[in-house]
Amino acid sequence: MEWEAVIGLEVHVQLTCSQSKLFSGAATAYGAEANSQACAVDLALPGVLPVLNRKPVEAAIKLGLAINAEIDQESVFARKNYFYPDLPKGYQISQFERPIVHDGHIDITLTNGDHKRIGVTRAHLEEDAGKSVHDAYHGQTGIDLNRSGTPLLEVVSEPEISSATEAVAYLKKLHALIRYLEIGDANMQEGSFRCDANVSVRPKGQQELGTRTECKNINSFRFVERAINHEIGRQIELIEDGGNVVQETRLYDPDRDETRSMRSKEEAFDYRYFPDPDLLPVVISDEWIDEVATTLPELPETRINRFITQLSIKPEDAEQIASSRELAEFFETSLNGYDRNPQLTANWVTGELLAQLNREERTIEQSPINTAQFAGLIARIDDQTISGKIAKQVFQELWQGGESADAVIEAKGLKQITDTGALEKLVAEVIEAHPEQAEELHGGKDKLMGFFVGQIMKKTQGKANPGEVNRLLRQLLTK
Ligand code: ADP
Ligand code: MG
Repeated sequence: MEWEAVIGLEVHVQLTCSQSKLFSGAATAYGAEANSQACAVDLALPGVLPVLNRKPVEAAIKLGLAINAEIDQESVFARKNYFYPDLPKGYQISQFERPIVHDGHIDITLTNGDHKRIGVTRAHLEEDAGKSVHDAYHGQTGIDLNRSGTPLLEVVSEPEISSATEAVAYLKKLHALIRYLEIGDANMQEGSFRCDANVSVRPKGQQELGTRTECKNINSFRFVERAINHEIGRQIELIEDGGNVVQETRLYDPDRDETRSMRSKEEAFDYRYFPDPDLLPVVISDEWIDEVATTLPELPETRINRFITQLSIKPEDAEQIASSRELAEFFETSLNGYDRNPQLTANWVTGELLAQLNREERTIEQSPINTAQFAGLIARIDDQTISGKIAKQVFQELWQGGESADAVIEAKGLKQITDTGALEKLVAEVIEAHPEQAEELHGGKDKLMGFFVGQIMKKTQGKANPGEVNRLLRQLLTK
């Protein structure tokens, strides 16, 4: 039997663009001392009333516009009732029947280059709960209400994702959008971009959806991929062994790479949603939406297309570069410094630059090489002053504080030898020093070409122009 996975994602995006809570004026900065950022509203003291902040609403409109969604011009806040120590009010203010944003979509690129449209069912505003701290006091649990009331946008996808790879592609697209729109920092480690994955399986071709489980607590792209794959495998095995998937919430444990049952449907809360009588409906005028629309930056999709059509960048490179607004800006500013070979610049951004940043766990903003230095390096590769190999050496020098590519090339004498006269002499010398090999190469053992090129590179410390060396070898050997 062939199986097919069905995945729907719920992402909680913290709206860090708002420096205060959704319904109070308390600060939302990350890492503050426990309970230092919780005011009377967040502590749920009797008699206080929530007042909606404008910024998070604006953030929701922005995302709605960016994913071509409907924006409900009269959405409603609802109380989601449950008891938990880190929720002093006894309910969370969320949106239920009338979310602010609904029926949008995000397009992802599949591994074979095809595009797939994933529906976004809804995106609603809600406040975050506090945190229970289990490891600070022996035998006791502390409550930190700093996070209580922090504005979140919960983005819910349709069950239209078919694999862990697609799920990650969708999440990366959403992540990029949040960063482009500057509505959240989407920092996964700090919990400002949290994903719950709903997973089910069904026999291939079947219309009806299978029973799903929901994996909570996944805080990196890698773990999303692993958790989903693990869950798909577990469900298929369970069904093939004659069992049934039960609808439940499971927790992903990255240390063991497995999911564990947290609570079943029977134990699920009945949230008793109802409209919050303390809050008026959120009314959004056409003018406000138009005004927000004028503030939207160029979005990743548009940028990718511009890179492909105007700069002739390979689609996969365009996608990789534009997935980060900061990286795309580095790339474009570099092109301002040298624009004759955008694909070469793209190669060095997605290649050496990203590799080095990853090795040192730095972000692009922390790159010791600035765009002017980078452009200078690309220029010298493009005009063949240095080979690609030597360029890596120059790149490292710049990374360590070198002033400019030209200065490094000059100081270290790294200029490529393209002078035919000088090279011809070297090639002749090498042939003379290895008469047997030269004979064999001449006789058709082409593999030896590499040997000769290597010899010449050794003699010149990699500075000989490889194309020229190849040409000269052939020329001299066929004489
Ligand atoms: P709840 O509010 O109980 O979490 P929803 O119906 O709002 O449930 O769905 C939440 C998420 O689960 C959505 O992203 C949806 O696409 C996904 N989902 C629903 N049914 C399935 C299913 N059978 N398999 C996989 N995902 C599903
Ligand atoms: Mg859910």
